[in-house]
Amino acid sequence: MINFLPQIYENELFYSVLARYRRMCGMVSKRALIEDLFGRHIFVSSIYFPQYIDSFVKCLPPTSELTAIEIIKNHTMFPFYTSFLSKEKTDFLFNIMQNGANGSKMTVEKYIGFSNSKVRKPNYLRYCPLCYKEDLEVLGESYWRTNHQIAGVHYCSKHHLLLKQSSVLSTGSGIDFICADEQVCDVELLKDDYPDNIKQLNLKYVHNAELLLETNFPRKELKYIIEFYIDRLREKGLASNNGNLYMKDVQERFLLNYPMEYLNLMQSDIDPDSPSNWLRLFVRNNNKNRTPLRHLLFLQFLGIRMDYLFQNKEVIGKKSVSIQHNPIFDIQERREKWLQLIEENPNANRSQLKEKGKGLHTWICKYDWDWYDRVTPKAALGREKAGTIDWYKRDEECLRLAKDAVESILHRKGKPVRVTPSSVRKILGFGSWFHNEKLVRTQQYLREAKEEIEDFRIRKIKRAIEDRIKQGEKLTVYKVQLHAGFGGNNQEVKNLIADVLEKEFNFPKC
Ligand SMILES: [Zn+2]
Repeated sequence: MINFLPQIYENELFYSVLARYRRMCGMVSKRALIEDLFGRHIFVSSIYFPQYIDSFVKCLPPTSELTAIEIIKNHTMFPFYTSFLSKEKTDFLFNIMQNGANGSKMTVEKYIGFSNSKVRKPNYLRYCPLCYKEDLEVLGESYWRTNHQIAGVHYCSKHHLLLKQSSVLSTGSGIDFICADEQVCDVELLKDDYPDNIKQLNLKYVHNAELLLETNFPRKELKYIIEFYIDRLREKGLASNNGNLYMKDVQERFLLNYPMEYLNLMQSDIDPDSPSNWLRLFVRNNNKNRTPLRHLLFLQFLGIRMDYLFQNKEVIGKKSVSIQHNPIFDIQERREKWLQLIEENPNANRSQLKEKGKGLHTWICKYDWDWYDRVTPKAALGREKAGTIDWYKRDEECLRLAKDAVESILHRKGKPVRVTPSSVRKILGFGSWFHNEKLVRTQQYLREAKEEIEDFRIRKIKRAIEDRIKQGEKLTVYKVQLHAGFGGNNQEVKNLIADVLEKEFNFPKC
């Protein structure tokens, strides 16, 4: 049982309160202290994420109004490190801190991924020498602050001074309850050799990090966050309309934004040539927890306010690549058949054509009347003298049909077909007259729409990759090559596939 608890200061670490309690009681034995505080002996291995807070609250005097929620949310690192986790994961960690991990050696650190992360949390408690000095003057004592312990925070937000590292261990089994006093802190300022741009970058980071610590933003799923990032990158022209990242550009701009020295300070160096540097893997929905430090770096790079990320509701992310143009293709097919019918029956009038193509006629008149009316001769074509063909009008019509046909070729299912004047003619079911130079605009359009062999290859490759993604199959250059129907050992094609994988699908070259 605890008879009294010292007043808790703003931003004070829960650990710091316990240390001051110990000093006030003059308790020497750590074991006795823990039994006093928690009602039994528990294993204390973390200053940042204490456990069994409920047991502690139960030991408080009956008059105390302190709750577990208040302690965890205001006096531990919990709000910061769970900011980018889903609600489910956040609740899970909250429960561990409130009720303990039930005898298992499960720690919040392990769950968050500190043990295998490249970004380590500070191993010693840190403080600002001026905050320390002011505390002594105003409060008569100082204390450990939560905001000074955030990974990546190097400056005090209040005094813009470099934080100092004390000799008090913050992790491991050697944790003792030590106050921020003259034994471990001093008022001497640290010499600041960082250039001003680094200081400003970090102060911005500090601002955002403290916002996370203070504000209980609604939790979001990782999928949402990734899609949010993709949307912002698309707005900046760093992703395609479909949401495929232009990774080289992203990296280039990121490195323009952050000097290497700063990335180094933030434990987030990037080897621009490595296909698996953290930045390249960052905007991927791979279900791995990312440290908030890198989320903050990325958001700062994008120039986005924290509340926008958390309050925003709508995200798009990657757009589905399967374009279903079947209805158009359907129309196209029917139009082709109808035109064929007209060709085969040059002397037929409308009612004769209707008779010959019964079902087809009904469908076209119902769904495609305007087109029907334009192309179907009112009187039989045969009576039209050759010299009276209105090429201008026919050109207009053919141009429209050619455009439809190109669309349908580009979006048809099955094996891709290259767009060429003759593939367009074939799909329309027209004779060689279709290439007549009197159809000026049509010929012009066909020349422009013609797909270069390289472009066609890229389209085939993309289609194969998209198919494989949809089917959940492996993406290697070789597999894509076979899937796309490129036989043999063409090195040019292989390079092309590797390029498309990298540029359009954010898939590192190996
Ligand atoms: Zn300060």
